[in-house]
Amino acid sequence: MVIDDIRPLSPAAAPCKICGGQAPLYGVVDFHKSCEEARGVRLLLSGVPIYYRRCVDCKFLFTDAFDEWTTEHFKTHIYNDEYGRVDPDYQSETRSRTNGDVVAGLWGPYKTKTRVLDYGGGNDALCTALRAHGFPAAVSYDPMVPEFARRPDGKFDLVMCVETLEHMPDPASGIAAMIECAADPGLILFTTSVQPEDFDRLGLNWWYVAPRNGHISIFSREALKSAWNRHGYKVLSLNDNVHLAFRTLPHFLAYLDTSVLDQPKS
Ligand SMILES: [Zn+2]
Repeated sequence: MVIDDIRPLSPAAAPCKICGGQAPLYGVVDFHKSCEEARGVRLLLSGVPIYYRRCVDCKFLFTDAFDEWTTEHFKTHIYNDEYGRVDPDYQSETRSRTNGDVVAGLWGPYKTKTRVLDYGGGNDALCTALRAHGFPAAVSYDPMVPEFARRPDGKFDLVMCVETLEHMPDPASGIAAMIECAADPGLILFTTSVQPEDFDRLGLNWWYVAPRNGHISIFSREALKSAWNRHGYKVLSLNDNVHLAFRTLPHFLAYLDTSVLDQPKS
């Protein structure tokens, strides 16, 4: 298998895409490694090695193999007709409806005053669900989907970003763009799985490291903190996958005790 325009490998350390620290090579997997391997689905080896780097400071794990790619390259080699085999939940209306129910339940009476942007929301399913729940504006933005590729104007009280950050070749710019779209006070609610406690033992065998899924930017908790803190944002991780980021909390959440976020982890 030949894949166009993969960036030639440099064995030297590269700057971390999040904090600028030194990111030496960390390991290598086959291009066809996918998240579905955790469920026993294994694609034929492609023979194309994809190297990942890991920052010695913030532990951000990334590959720069696709840094020369255009949107067309990503559509040809990753988000193609075969993509559903490695990400069966992608564009799942059920998942979007469930997420919509959860958000509508959490926002309760405030939903009628909350403008929502779904950043990376490829099929508008989440926003369709939110509009049906009574949110006055719920807009999808996704540069990979022509219909939703124009970034909407204005600021949004709630910016959602579901399983998207790990797909970005330049997640620092993605975070900056989300912040530009967010009202202040406002809330960014995003999901991406962070490296588990035992990541050093698992290494690139961890199921979430999956170039075939387009999982090319894998955060640690430190990397998340670094990426948001530089914009004056705090991050509150509800678990290893669901996170909130904000500069000023919306008034209906102002009672949350965020002082815990300023204390070093013991
Ligand atoms: Zn770093």
